[in-house]
Amino acid sequence: MKKILPVKKNDEIEAVFEDLTHDGAGVAKVDGYPLFVPRALPGEKAKIKVIKTNKSYGIGRLLELHEKSPYRVEISKQDAHKYGGCQLAHINHEGQLKFKENQVHQVLARIGKLEGVRIHPIIGMENPWHYRNKAQVPVGEKDGKLIAGFFKPRTHEIVDTDESLIQIPEVNEAINVVKEVCSKLKIPAYNEESHKGVLRHIMARYGKQTGELMVVLITRTAEVPHQKKLVDAIVSRLPQVKSIVHNINPKRTNVILGEKTKVLWGNEIIYDKIGDVKFAISALSFYQVNPVQTKVLYDKALEYAGLNGNESVIDAYCGIGTISLFLAQKARKVFGVEVVPEAIEDAKRNAALNGITNVQFEAGAAETVIPKWYEAGNKADVLVVDPPRKGCDESLLRTILEMKPKKVVYVSCNPATLARDLRILEDGGYSTVDVQPVDMFPHTTHVECVSQLILNECNPILNSSEPKKTFPIQARLQ
Ligand code: SAH
Repeated sequence: MKKILPVKKNDEIEAVFEDLTHDGAGVAKVDGYPLFVPRALPGEKAKIKVIKTNKSYGIGRLLELHEKSPYRVEISKQDAHKYGGCQLAHINHEGQLKFKENQVHQVLARIGKLEGVRIHPIIGMENPWHYRNKAQVPVGEKDGKLIAGFFKPRTHEIVDTDESLIQIPEVNEAINVVKEVCSKLKIPAYNEESHKGVLRHIMARYGKQTGELMVVLITRTAEVPHQKKLVDAIVSRLPQVKSIVHNINPKRTNVILGEKTKVLWGNEIIYDKIGDVKFAISALSFYQVNPVQTKVLYDKALEYAGLNGNESVIDAYCGIGTISLFLAQKARKVFGVEVVPEAIEDAKRNAALNGITNVQFEAGAAETVIPKWYEAGNKADVLVVDPPRKGCDESLLRTILEMKPKKVVYVSCNPATLARDLRILEDGGYSTVDVQPVDMFPHTTHVECVSQLILNECNPILNSSEPKKTFPIQARLQ
């Protein structure tokens, strides 16, 4: 029998919000039935319109706010284009931090069923604006001019943006200059529907420590029209540019970058530094986008690894070797593994660039390579994982439980899969001692955490008679 829901589509009701979902929508309940309403906040009362109902939840639209949260910030219509990609722009930084911290607490308790874990207050940024060192913006045309910015949520309509508040000013400037120069040279924008035109995306990357800039032009065509004039104009207007790269993407696809890349001017790479370690970054390499918080995150990972120089360390999911090289400064030997072969080439090059010789990198899936190392007798004292959003492969977790490194440091960009994986490690003989959330992406819903796990057999606190401390769920966003 069909259940009768307390609301139906197009109903307009007065709602009281009590929580936020992990993607930042307000949650109001009507007779226990949850309604998710984007941009509503806990503690607020509002008139809403029900726009969709499912069996277990409904979606609503905010019509009129009657009581406002103290964490709410108003954004004027004129400024809205500066907040592209900021799902939490309507919450002030303090509120955002509470939301993220609270999410970590809730998820670790609900999914991980973890007790006695020290979840530290989230580390926010002193200045949470203009932090991104990279932008890749879609290009379109309007009234005979090029426009570039971000897609309006859930559409393919480009909002023209001359200043993104989360990008480093040099990155904003690079995008604006390239847009203007291409517009003057009448280089046509790519048109998704007709699959005609030329310029698909403009990308800019900036080394915050070195001041080096890379510009990448992504086109459908194999050639860039007016290449010489374009390059000359970019070089003269952007003195920090060290590399101009052309990437060709001839396919009908939402994927931004194509397979072919050629250098139009300057170097193939730019350099940046995190702490004392120097990195070469190419157009296609993965590199953390918030350099200030990356340092905070890696320092925490290093602190949790607790190295004294005698350890053998494995860095699984090592990318271009960023964490591996950080760890190598304090360990006897570091072994890095990563599934993208080009990233491993970058990692080797980065080791050489820094004269770091106590690292070894191998391309392959962590869940295949680490068991092979283990069988060959390579047993790590400390194991670091930094997997993508889907978390660790379960077979890798099983290998960790067999290998029994004394410590596991888990760097995670998704609290839900972190909680799931910590539960498996806990059941297999580890204790999660510390979890440190770090706000790597202010104004977005993303939360990064670094966690320290200790093998129970080696944990002096567990083996003492002191009672285990528990930590209550902290302040909620109310
Ligand atoms: N530690 C790096 C990269 C983290 S991003 C840094 O901080 O920069 C996660 C990385 O895991 C990506 O580089 C991705 O290519 C890699 N990856 C994804 N699945 C993998 C797998 N099964 N085995 C090894 N690496 C994998």
